[in-house]
Amino acid sequence: MERFFCSNCKRFYSLHPSRWRCECGSFLDLEFESEFPIQKILKRAPTLWRYREAIPIQNHTSILSMNEGFTPLEEVEFNGHPVLIKMDYLFPTGSYKDRGATVLISKMKEWKVQKVVEDSSGNAGSAIAAYCAKAGIKCDIYVPYDTSRGKLVQIQAYGATLKKVEGSREKTAEKAMEAASILPYASHCWNPFFLHGTKTFAFEVWEQIGRKVPDTLVLPIGHGTIFLGAHLGFKELKEAGMIKRIPKLVGVQSTSCAPLYEAFKKGWRETRPIEKKETIAEGIAIAAPVRGKQILDAIRDTHGEVLAVTEREIKSAMKEMGRKGYFIEPTSAAAVAGLKKYLEGRRRKETVVSIFTGIGLKSAGKML
Ligand SMILES: *Cc1c(COP(=O)(O)O)cnc(C)c1O
Ligand SMILES: [Zn+2]
Repeated sequence: MERFFCSNCKRFYSLHPSRWRCECGSFLDLEFESEFPIQKILKRAPTLWRYREAIPIQNHTSILSMNEGFTPLEEVEFNGHPVLIKMDYLFPTGSYKDRGATVLISKMKEWKVQKVVEDSSGNAGSAIAAYCAKAGIKCDIYVPYDTSRGKLVQIQAYGATLKKVEGSREKTAEKAMEAASILPYASHCWNPFFLHGTKTFAFEVWEQIGRKVPDTLVLPIGHGTIFLGAHLGFKELKEAGMIKRIPKLVGVQSTSCAPLYEAFKKGWRETRPIEKKETIAEGIAIAAPVRGKQILDAIRDTHGEVLAVTEREIKSAMKEMGRKGYFIEPTSAAAVAGLKKYLEGRRRKETVVSIFTGIGLKSAGKML
């Protein structure tokens, strides 16, 4: 049977929709054993649900799917370096957050939940709102006041109730947590079911490169849901005996908000409060990542690192991608800027995989 567990104080909890953190205050993980029956997987439709035995949903009828996932893995060249990019900006709501939302909201449906709350800088809110619409679950989405207009309109288009909060992203999270004392919290950063969706990124990459392991993953980090998802996915493949090693994980943050960059450089085990500046990369402007310690552990375990990129580098990467035919949002361009930094002076033989996390259309107003 699946259980929640706390890696901080080693407590266990049975699954329940209103259990979103440990009594000790720490985040929870999910105890669950994945299987990869490859012959069955190969016969299924190219969506992330083809890894059915690795996704912790009990009943098939609980699954809410828009045939999402199995996004193209395309080769893009950066200064002569070929890099494989996962085209996750092509998801139904325009960002990779659908990976987590399809699984988390399916679980909420399985639990027969009627209403949830979530807080987000926009994309997670859009994804949760879309799958709630599909499930017939009501939702309140808390967002910071200055969130891109396109994201606000999108959240409302799905019929969610938008709660705009004055002040910082952290203030928004506080408001949602208050609401979560009454309603189930469909939080992308707290709820481990979200990571059991984002982990499918790893399964797809593994399958798409011929059931092999890339050398390096370069991924953005805010709360780390794609970063930790990728780590979890490769860990599960290794535990199931499908692969022998886990790729090196390289995280990218904006210099305007880089708690993990700082903690990694200074050798700290946890992140510490930082002073955040304005950044165009709104999706990763997270001053206090919930799973900061878990992210640092994943970086050290895989001999990875964290890179920080400036506002100028982000804007220039966004422009460059546009010129190559990819219209990605600024947050997504931050990862590209980090990728370019990572590739400087590298050998060409290394297989590097990265991601386009979000489409540009929603944030067009912020790009001018
Ligand atoms: C959410 C998001 C990220 C980063 O996600 P975290 O889970 O906060 O690390 C990156 N890019 C885009 C477009 C996003 O929406
Ligand atoms: Zn605990």
